[in-house]
Amino acid sequence: MKKVLILLILLLLVGCGKKENEVTDNENDKPEVKELTEEDYINNNVNELGEVPIMMYHGIHAMKNSETSYTGGNVDKDGYQRTTEAFINDLEFYYSNGYRMIRLSDYVDGNIDVELGKSPIILTFDDGLSNAIKVTGLDSNGNIIIDPNSAVGILESFKKKYPDYNVTATFFINGGLFEQKEYNEKILNWLVDNGYDIGNHTYTHVNFSDVDANRSKEEVGKIYELLDKIIPNKYVNVVALPYGSPYSLTHSNMQYIFNTEYNGKTYVTKSALRVGWKAESSPFSSDFNPKFLKRIRAYDNDGVEFDIEMNFKLLEKTRYISDGDVNTIVIPSSKSEMLSDSVKKEVKEY
Ligand SMILES: [Zn+2]
Repeated sequence: MKKVLILLILLLLVGCGKKENEVTDNENDKPEVKELTEEDYINNNVNELGEVPIMMYHGIHAMKNSETSYTGGNVDKDGYQRTTEAFINDLEFYYSNGYRMIRLSDYVDGNIDVELGKSPIILTFDDGLSNAIKVTGLDSNGNIIIDPNSAVGILESFKKKYPDYNVTATFFINGGLFEQKEYNEKILNWLVDNGYDIGNHTYTHVNFSDVDANRSKEEVGKIYELLDKIIPNKYVNVVALPYGSPYSLTHSNMQYIFNTEYNGKTYVTKSALRVGWKAESSPFSSDFNPKFLKRIRAYDNDGVEFDIEMNFKLLEKTRYISDGDVNTIVIPSSKSEMLSDSVKKEVKEY
């Protein structure tokens, strides 16, 4: 009898122990943050002054690479338009090479939340093409049904396949939004509710080198006004410059892009995005200028002319590699001269 009692008590204790552990596990969803050592930084080549690729896409076409007459899944001569096969390959390539997506706005604000040893990457899509997010209808609840072969359909499949990829992208739109009259407003709302961002690509895809001050204000202001109506306070104040024009920050129209008075309102733009050709500086580098950011044209050119292959080869030596902590900036001491004076976060050199 005694033995049975002791056994019962023991069983109860083990049971309680287990329960306690389970509760603790639930309370701490995230694994315990352990202090990293210099060895961890060395082993992971941590360098938060490294470069960050901002990829520039336009259209994604439901085609195989073998169905185009151009190199590696380009649908046009310059590779602005790409096949779905090429886009899927790109996403696999970035992931398997240790890149994880971050929002453009987080990059500009210096909030790079990527796990230890991984590198940030930013995706952008210009022109609001219907194949960026093609809606095929509405479900019984009135929610949009997204074509799995459009860019967002593919991105959503990667969200499921690699939850740690942190899938996100910024879409830069013109006055036609996503070219789907009956769904445009639902699309914009769906995107911002599902972790994507919307930015400004001017009302008529204007070339800022060819127009005057008033037209410049109108082109930027009309898009912000439209976004204010459909997704107020939920869009990003970033302008992707059509054709990358004007090509200089000192161009007289730049002031109207950054500070736009239109229809009695003033809109302030944080960043302007250029076209091409290579990765950008770390937001903690003294080289960083959020007002004028370079992008990499996401295309294939057999490893030359700053295509994806060439850029990611260059990045092997220069890429930003995270310490896994969004609040501290970890840099090799050999790079400390590159550190910007305006960094407000804690900096660790090793
Ligand atoms: Zn464009």
